[in-house]
Amino acid sequence: MGSIFTPTIETLPKTADAVVIGGGIVGVATAFWLSRAGLDTVLLEMRDGLSTLTTAQSIECFRAQFTEPAMAELALPSIEVFEHFAEVTGIEGYDISLRHQGYLFVTDQPEMVDDMRAAVEKHRQLGVTDSEFLGHDELLARFPYLSEKALAATFRQQDGWLSTHEATQGFAKGSQAQFLLSTPATGIQLDSGGSGGAWGVSAVETPLGSISTRTVVNAAGPFAGVVGKMAGVELPLEAVRRQKVFISPRPEIPADAPLTIDVAQDAYWRPETGGAYIAWVDPDEPAGEPKEELPLDWDYPAIVLDKLVALNPFWEGIADSLRGEDVHPSAGQYVYTPDDQPLIGPLSDVAGFYVNCGYWAGVMLSPEAGRRITRLVTGEMQPEENALRPTRYAEGVVYEGDSFLRGRH
Ligand SMILES: Cc1cc2nc3c(=O)[nH]c(=O)nc-3n(C[C@H](O)[C@H](O)[C@H](O)COP(=O)(O)OP(=O)(O)OC[C@H]3O[C@@H](n4cnc5c(N)ncnc54)[C@H](O)[C@@H]3O)c2cc1C
Repeated sequence: MGSIFTPTIETLPKTADAVVIGGGIVGVATAFWLSRAGLDTVLLEMRDGLSTLTTAQSIECFRAQFTEPAMAELALPSIEVFEHFAEVTGIEGYDISLRHQGYLFVTDQPEMVDDMRAAVEKHRQLGVTDSEFLGHDELLARFPYLSEKALAATFRQQDGWLSTHEATQGFAKGSQAQFLLSTPATGIQLDSGGSGGAWGVSAVETPLGSISTRTVVNAAGPFAGVVGKMAGVELPLEAVRRQKVFISPRPEIPADAPLTIDVAQDAYWRPETGGAYIAWVDPDEPAGEPKEELPLDWDYPAIVLDKLVALNPFWEGIADSLRGEDVHPSAGQYVYTPDDQPLIGPLSDVAGFYVNCGYWAGVMLSPEAGRRITRLVTGEMQPEENALRPTRYAEGVVYEGDSFLRGRH
């Protein structure tokens, strides 16, 4: 069983087979698989709890409805892990509050109807057999809360959401790794003493001392660029603030609805414990510095509600009667790469330095991403077999990110 603790100078491990930097869901899933592969694994988290930064801001959804092959390749096995979580982690009866309440990408724009059909076609090509194209009549029959203006949608009932807190804790408990809280990585030491004499990592520095290791995984979320620099590496990452709002319970909110996304507006909502999460992924939000505290726009909740009303008219009545205490905004950061797909794998310039970062949908991809890093570390997978290798841009590999809801056009 993994141990989660705040170390002292005495209890700081002095060596490890692998050090993971970052205790969000991506880093913790990585530590789970590394330790399962038999590596003595230490994870460093600068904050005083696991999954308290971006992961805690997520709306916790997962989907198989991707149109990019490399994303689907991560999403599908990740969902299998979520669906068999207790079995995979070996914790009998462990519950991550998985709900298959569906993802509904819907539009009222005639010119987008063909895009919806094409998306379902792509799902089929990528092995997703149970997504559906829904036309106007069927949409209204199945989701009567929608406006008459709804024209077409893609839907998959088996998509849904879960508890990221439970999933992260479960990965930690089901591992044999050590999770060190309030322990930032402050530097990465390099030398040429590793296998083959290549220039590579030799230790990770913390305020309590250093941990010798030949394998480091950078899973520092929005701070992955900062950690990259510690190893002398520039990573092509952009952190962009993304806000969301929790609306307190209201009887008008359909509790059995799927995550409902107005694709043309990049605005979405989903029910949660009688209330709802609502959000808009603003395509014009500029990239900024990675931050632990993010400012909130006072007018953001009203903007989102205004957008949601178009296809979900029940929000109008709610919006009119909301009081300040019903509205709970918060924010985290999406991390984008040049093709909006993550960076997973070793960097060629620094032996033993791996990255698992660049996520705007990292919750849902984390299980398989962590397993892939492990397969790369152990040599079970060769770097060139990995479509998301961070060296792909330098190799001239070009992918197009065209997923709905990634917030970029
Ligand atoms: C509003 C919003 C909604 C979202 N909804 C979804 C969704 O429905 N589904 C989905 O899949 N994704 C969603 N996401 C995206 C998702 O939350 C992230 O992609 C995911 O949480 C990234 O996980 P992570 O572990 O990489 O990052 P984080 O959770 O940020 O973890 C990184 C950790 O690294 C630590 N760290 C950083 N630097 C150091 C250092 N030097 N030393 C030690 N520790 C360090 C940080 O403290 C942090 O805990 C959403 C994001 C937002 C903002």
